[in-house]
Amino acid sequence: MDFELSNELKMFQKTIRDFCENEIQPHATAADETGVLPWDAIRKMPHLGLLGLQVSEVYGGADMDTLAASIAVEEIGRVCGSTGLSISAHNGLGCGPIVRWGSDEQKTTWLPKLTSGKFLGSLALTEPQAGSDLLNGAQTYAYQDGDEWVINGTKAWITNVSFAPVINVLVRTRKDGSSHDFSIILVEPDRAGVSVHPPEKKMGLKASPTHMISFENVRVPSQHLLGEEGSGFYMTMQTLDSGRISIGALSVGIAQGAFEAMVRYAQERKAFNEPIANKQLIQEKIANAAVELEAARMLVYKAAWVKDQGRDYTKIAAIAKLKASEVAEKVCHDAIQIHGSYGYSRDYPVERMYRDQRLMTIGEGTSEIQRIVIARQVLREFHHS
Ligand SMILES: Cc1cc2nc3c(=O)[nH]c(=O)nc-3n(C[C@H](O)[C@H](O)[C@H](O)COP(=O)(O)OP(=O)(O)OC[C@H]3O[C@@H](n4cnc5c(N)ncnc54)[C@H](O)[C@@H]3O)c2cc1C
Repeated sequence: MDFELSNELKMFQKTIRDFCENEIQPHATAADETGVLPWDAIRKMPHLGLLGLQVSEVYGGADMDTLAASIAVEEIGRVCGSTGLSISAHNGLGCGPIVRWGSDEQKTTWLPKLTSGKFLGSLALTEPQAGSDLLNGAQTYAYQDGDEWVINGTKAWITNVSFAPVINVLVRTRKDGSSHDFSIILVEPDRAGVSVHPPEKKMGLKASPTHMISFENVRVPSQHLLGEEGSGFYMTMQTLDSGRISIGALSVGIAQGAFEAMVRYAQERKAFNEPIANKQLIQEKIANAAVELEAARMLVYKAAWVKDQGRDYTKIAAIAKLKASEVAEKVCHDAIQIHGSYGYSRDYPVERMYRDQRLMTIGEGTSEIQRIVIARQVLREFHHS
């Protein structure tokens, strides 16, 4: 892999950075305090391709590769974790499955809406009693009645539901106890029998909407099945592999924002007659953050590159997500430490960044699950070598 970004990618990164600094950053604190996404900025995103990062231009997207898409998510995360999570979920979880497995009719119906700047996409996997273990725990069930699917069940912790024109919902369509039990069905939240519950009261990422959603005898046409019946679990695992690169990029972005704040503050704040940046113990934190951030970013870029090469990226995506999310935690922790009491204040953005990053080791597979995925792959490789 060439570790230097191409000039084209550097220019793209600068364009997105300028947009984020001008349109999102000034509203990030208010978004956190009010729980409302910066919609003026989101409405402007289509002209930069941010709402269809990997959607074909035919449907209003930008048709980028995964590396460019990751850089975009990283830049948004650098200024606002809430916006970063919603845009990451929109692209990877909302648009991604429709791009990859949708019929022409599904793509024509939903993708132009999703890239328009008026909506955000959503994927509903988790249930109140099951997140990591969907295979054994997910209970939402759909059966066919004539030319309709009838859905019953409850999904929990679903991002963007309240702004989604359609939700990709993982359902059991068989009860054999195998991974072939599952399918994904596209459901509009305004269908009869769908209840979107009040937003979750979260620790961070407060402007990114997260809701429980229930389905009571919800009827959708048969054509709303995504891909083939019985392939829902496979599609979910593929989508999560890809989503992990995006959460890795978001983690790097949040860590980068905290890192910059930490260095700036260390140069300004004086103790014992000099800037604290002159103190070796502070420099150690800065150096460690620089090293870890660089390592995390390289892993995310590598995972994106491996995916773009069409190679198996399950292991590297899990490695990148695990490392980047744990680096975000450490960098944000040290950013607060360097700010002293001010780091504990809501008047400084590192307080928000610390709360926002906390999801990164949980969402789209916890750190424990990433380690299981990585170990499984490593053991398989050694078994075959
Ligand atoms: C802000 C936010 C946004 C979210 N957005 C979405 C979304 O858009 N769509 C969606 O479907 N879900 C979403 N989620 C849900 C999220 O993906 C799940 O919460 C996550 O996958 C973990 O599932 P769980 O909470 O059920 O934890 P559990 O699976 O109950 O796990 C609890 C603990 O046990 C550990 N554990 C589980 N199994 C093992 C094992 N085999 N070995 C060792 N440890 C294990 C876990 O690592 C964790 O520490 C979101 C969550 C949040 C907080």
